[in-house]
Amino acid sequence: MPFCPQCKTEFEQDITECIECEEELLPSLIPAQVPEAADWQVVESVPNDVAGYILKSVLEDEGIQVYLRCNEIPAYGGIKGNPGKSEWGDILVPGFSVQFARETIKSYFDSLKEE
Ligand SMILES: [Zn+2]
Repeated sequence: MPFCPQCKTEFEQDITECIECEEELLPSLIPAQVPEAADWQVVESVPNDVAGYILKSVLEDEGIQVYLRCNEIPAYGGIKGNPGKSEWGDILVPGFSVQFARETIKSYFDSLKEE
């Protein structure tokens, strides 16, 4: 999706200017991919859904495509879908974003420590 270079908001395909900043939109740098087709790699495991969605938005703010994979099977009342895992779920990003995603997560956690 096209996005605004100023505020990083994404817009629908046929929109060419940001409604907030009136900046000309740039084409998306990340090609559209479906989870199954991409080279998704785990960059972080999360203990619960809240942590998962926070990290997802932190990464998406940096323009990284994120796939939040839950290890629990909701239909079974929170029974782990993957018995070997104690975490709630995993944060996955496309292979080419792994390095940047790890750095982004690290600086996010560092910023939490400083507060
Ligand atoms: Zn904008």
